[in-house]
Amino acid sequence: MNYDRNFFLPTGPLSQLEGYEYREQQQKMADQVMNILTDGHIGLIEAGTGTGKSLAYLYPSICFAKSKGEKVVISTNTINLQEQLLEKDIPVLFKLGTRFKAVVVKGWSNYPCWLRIKDLQEQLEDEKDSQELAELEKLLEQESVSEVTKLFESTAADIKEQIQAESDLCLRGKCSYFNQCPVFINRRQAETADIVIVNHHLLLADVAVRQAVGWEENAVLPVYYHLVLDEAHHIEDIATDYFGVQLSLLRIRRLLGFLYRPYGKNRGLLAGLRQNLSRYPSEEGDDLLEILDWQLLPQLRMVDEAAVKYFAVLEEELFQDRDDSDTVLIPYSGLEQGALLESYDRFFTSLVTLKTQLENLISLLEPDEGDKLTPYLKRIEAVIADLEFLMEAADRGFVYWLKKQQRQHGCVLQAAPIQVGEQLREHLLFQVKSAIFTSATLTVNNDFKYFCDSIGIGHSENWDLNTAIYASPFDYQNQVYLAVARDMPSAEHPDFAAVLVEHLDPLLAVTQGRAFILFTSYAMLRKTAQLVREHGLDQKYNFLVQGEMPRTEMLDRFRDEAKTVLLGTDSFWEGVDVAGDALSTVIITKLPFKVPTEPIAAARSEQMRLNGINPFLNYFLPQAVLKFRQGCGRLIRTKTDRGLILICDKRIMERSYGKFFIQSLPACSVHYDKLQAIEQEVKLWF
Ligand code: SF4
Repeated sequence: MNYDRNFFLPTGPLSQLEGYEYREQQQKMADQVMNILTDGHIGLIEAGTGTGKSLAYLYPSICFAKSKGEKVVISTNTINLQEQLLEKDIPVLFKLGTRFKAVVVKGWSNYPCWLRIKDLQEQLEDEKDSQELAELEKLLEQESVSEVTKLFESTAADIKEQIQAESDLCLRGKCSYFNQCPVFINRRQAETADIVIVNHHLLLADVAVRQAVGWEENAVLPVYYHLVLDEAHHIEDIATDYFGVQLSLLRIRRLLGFLYRPYGKNRGLLAGLRQNLSRYPSEEGDDLLEILDWQLLPQLRMVDEAAVKYFAVLEEELFQDRDDSDTVLIPYSGLEQGALLESYDRFFTSLVTLKTQLENLISLLEPDEGDKLTPYLKRIEAVIADLEFLMEAADRGFVYWLKKQQRQHGCVLQAAPIQVGEQLREHLLFQVKSAIFTSATLTVNNDFKYFCDSIGIGHSENWDLNTAIYASPFDYQNQVYLAVARDMPSAEHPDFAAVLVEHLDPLLAVTQGRAFILFTSYAMLRKTAQLVREHGLDQKYNFLVQGEMPRTEMLDRFRDEAKTVLLGTDSFWEGVDVAGDALSTVIITKLPFKVPTEPIAAARSEQMRLNGINPFLNYFLPQAVLKFRQGCGRLIRTKTDRGLILICDKRIMERSYGKFFIQSLPACSVHYDKLQAIEQEVKLWF
């Protein structure tokens, strides 16, 4: 199947579709993607909202894969975009007669594990009418992988956790359900696909496996040499998260719970084993029961107690006199000292004993029973290794910290790599023939430097980059009223929230709500929400406050209900698509600079300082500009959308760096005025 350079033209096949619009940027981007795939380059393509970038990379990728017989992997940040490609964009191409095979591969936990289902069924044997059994049976009845995954999505969370597929628990070829397993049916489908659609997290899981097995072997994904990364601006954060280490009481309890859950109905693999041994008595069985009852089950309790104590002491010691902070950096000298040492020793020893006892049990079991427990043994070993790594805190390529979690979940001990560029460069970019990074926000002031540095291809190296910026086709000059409030106090001023709330009523009256108010901190969001209620604004408008309901519910209600105002932080600055009149105002309360004391930001900036690089100009500023662009980008999603962007942080006009923010937005006039004047002008403008 050859690439048709007329495909996107008014005379080309795409024009047959209802609602077709010719977009020059889309045509150019598609040609560029085709050239990069064919010539084998690294491409960096920024495509503004409305360019139609999904089709602009899908169509050439499909043509390339079909004509060359070489698979193209497309990676997105979210499952939502994976599904959008499959359900919206790919059907468009099918409709036009393009024939190809595309398969979505999701992370392990999106599929049920047949082996774990069977184990749970056995444990539930005595509860014939239980709701859980009914749910399991329904899953087993499904005929296709897509039916199974769809049904699995709506399975109750507590059951899901007990039966979801997990990479390190999977027996792979040794599993008797291997041929029916949805994970591996999906993988086999992907092997024969032209296009494989994944998310960044899974892509990195594949990269990690390939480091061990080599690039020429199937790993999590089938062998591939061509890659398109959409929402590519997330790849650094996802890689930082993926290559990091976390240890919490929750992780320990989850592991112990898989083996044995003593409360309520006894559950877990050891409970199942115990049940079988009691049901069919034998001499060997009695010995095993003794090991279970006198060694392993009491030891599981000891690990739990030791873990509770360890995390409590950790929190107490490290957060001493630090009531104002939820994060403490751990020095490279490590934590093996003082009062903590005793609880650590106890916790560590309890884990090692558990490991030894489990090894012993496995050696006495029939191979098929032992095989089921072996992955849990590996998990215990991984916990021991992570615990040592975190306590020593000696690897200077990492930053270590302890963070308090919300809602009584205790604290989590964490480490993250300070830089991931080298990993991405060596283990991904050096391995593929072509890689295209695309997003609506890759550049700062029309420069890809920040993004290049983040993925390990800084300008100093001799990379054959193929770059382009395709501006949004929307008419921002006429579609957006961009205002900066010159009389807002700084966000640190105690009156900031009060002044904001005082002016909200007249502003919201213009658009009858339909506003996003974007914050950079939960504290400010909560304070504003409280004042809104104290002033009775919630009687006039329907306030949806992050933290008070699930994110998806907030978005559904925002779209469906009248006079809504959404108060959101981080996750609402991007990836939210509310087209049309439903969203008419976006208020940016503060320029979204990272908090300099946040562990990864602090470590990256310190490393830059040591290398003679200015961290503000080369890290904090570009990062904030990209996020600011995303936040503003929520407003205009189609060519008929109109609305107000109000920036409440006057540093954008008064500081020299402010121009980087303004110049990074699509061209439109900036109205720098007092709030009252803005209210009047906006009324006329609408
Ligand atoms: S192959 Fe792995 S994921 Fe699939 S059923 Fe077996 S153990 Fe579970």
